[in-house]
Amino acid sequence: MAGYQVPRKFPTTVVGSYPKMPPAEEALKKRRQGIVGEEEFHRLARDAIRMVVEDYLWAGVDIISDGEQTREDMVVYFAERLEGYSIGDWVRVFDNVYFRKPVVTGKVEWRQPMIIDDWEYARSISQGRPVKVILTGPYTMLEWSFDLHYGDRRELIFDLARAIRREIEEAIARGAEYIQVDEPALSTRPFREEAELLKEALEIVFKGVQAKRIVHICFGRLERILPYILDYPVDQFDLEMKNSNFRLLPYLKEYGYDKELGFGVVDVHSFQVETVDEIREAIDRLMKADIIGPEKVYVDPDCGLKRLPREIAREKLRNMVEAARIAREEW
Ligand SMILES: [Zn+2]
Repeated sequence: MAGYQVPRKFPTTVVGSYPKMPPAEEALKKRRQGIVGEEEFHRLARDAIRMVVEDYLWAGVDIISDGEQTREDMVVYFAERLEGYSIGDWVRVFDNVYFRKPVVTGKVEWRQPMIIDDWEYARSISQGRPVKVILTGPYTMLEWSFDLHYGDRRELIFDLARAIRREIEEAIARGAEYIQVDEPALSTRPFREEAELLKEALEIVFKGVQAKRIVHICFGRLERILPYILDYPVDQFDLEMKNSNFRLLPYLKEYGYDKELGFGVVDVHSFQVETVDEIREAIDRLMKADIIGPEKVYVDPDCGLKRLPREIAREKLRNMVEAARIAREEW
């Protein structure tokens, strides 16, 4: 999209989710009750997406998202739209604990565009700012589903990767410039074999993709698997940093990190709004660690903002944008 120049140093962005706006809650309710079909559901959610985009524009974020307003859950959303899944079954986790977990009952395949409608709508009102395409990654889909069909994790994750890739191709054909795959499940199992399994899956997801390729990972003991993820076929790792008090920085230095970094400077679990100074100091800390230059640093929150009240989310973003602006003058 013409017109908007993303800053060369410290561009600001978001990880993806945003507090659910009332029109989205309403649309989700109607979809659950079966009152509206898929098309009408996304049309109803547009009022919510517009409110989210307005907040991003007010805060001044450079690369935005649709706020994931139509996604009640990051795994269930995709499972409901892929071939091979059955939803609504309650899976017994242990003893008397049951929860709604998507169940794989057939071959997983891409069926129809899943996130394109929301993304295109956000882009149509973003005043030229790029909108990230954000998908739940194959490893997280694998880990947070219950498999009754494959009996083989590798086969399942590779089919998930192919389905996700198909959606990415759809987005790129329509002009997507930033593709982000979310993999929060990886840091819950920080083992070499798991990191290597995801690498193989990401090779399917991203091979030959002509767009910025990003993987978001958050929380957990990422330093344990850092050496096994650094050669993933991606341009950028988007990482939670603030919540763990930037514990990962010395490890990035030690392992010679040289990709772009989505640098989490806002804690998504805290209602306390970080001050401009606090965020600027975080950026200074990264710069002083002398790992990568400012043109490789994307300033963003640790993770999605969905659990925060809207007022707090937008204040956090505004301070983040102001801190990045000051940092651009200093570095
Ligand atoms: Zn996250």
